[in-house]
Amino acid sequence: MSDRPDPSDSTSPPADAPPAPGGNPTALPPGGPFLVGLTGGIGSGKTTVANHFQALGVTVVDTDAIAHELTGPGGGAMPAIREAFGEGVVAPDGRLDRAAMRERVFGTPAERRRLEAILHPMIGRVTTERALAAESPYVILAIPLLVESGRWKERVHRVLVIDCAEQTQVERVMSRSGLTAGQVRDIMAAQVSRERRLAAADDVIDNDGAPDALVPAVQALHARYLELAAAHAAASS
Ligand code: ATP
Repeated sequence: MSDRPDPSDSTSPPADAPPAPGGNPTALPPGGPFLVGLTGGIGSGKTTVANHFQALGVTVVDTDAIAHELTGPGGGAMPAIREAFGEGVVAPDGRLDRAAMRERVFGTPAERRRLEAILHPMIGRVTTERALAAESPYVILAIPLLVESGRWKERVHRVLVIDCAEQTQVERVMSRSGLTAGQVRDIMAAQVSRERRLAAADDVIDNDGAPDALVPAVQALHARYLELAAAHAAASS
């Protein structure tokens, strides 16, 4: 297990790729769905909270999951990655060899930017397609680097931050992954600070408590988002 952030998913800073040629692939048309950007530091509980919203029938579009699809065997980003970086970053089954890519981009910003210039516009396009196809009254966009990424922050109507103490993050990630505390803290240090993330929030879910405490918190926000989505739909019709 490496202590380095994975460059091929959307949890790895820096977040922004140069704009894609031919227009902004993440642009959503006016009158599109009400969008809630869900974010938080590593291990804060984003997936857990997103699952609660999904259980209430809300469409969740997860940019990390999309990044993994795009870099899996036969993934849409693999031809461009192969061409840009060569066979050395492609596993035998055709997926991205994430460890090899990590080594390749580590400490080499130009290489990292090259990868991001391939991946981020594709992630943006797929995210937008899925958000537009959603049939729920509003859509949750799960974006780990939402606060770091101007691209997404401007496009969501609401920013929901999942927050917990840094020590809680360290403990949860350690028990899930086998990383050491130092390795987790290195990843956290490469993400935006807790203070800056909280400063960008419209809504915050405190996930320092028991898992069950999330249920009423999500239900209350769901009710609020249904109201905001209805107002948004009325204003854009
Ligand atoms: P990552 O940034 O790594 O994708 P994440 O923000 O999506 O993580 P989760 O995967 O939801 O976070 O949670 C991290 C770990 O903490 C998981 O093992 C999850 O089961 C656990 N966890 C989440 N919330 C709680 C809680 N309130 N109490 C105890 N464990 C929790």
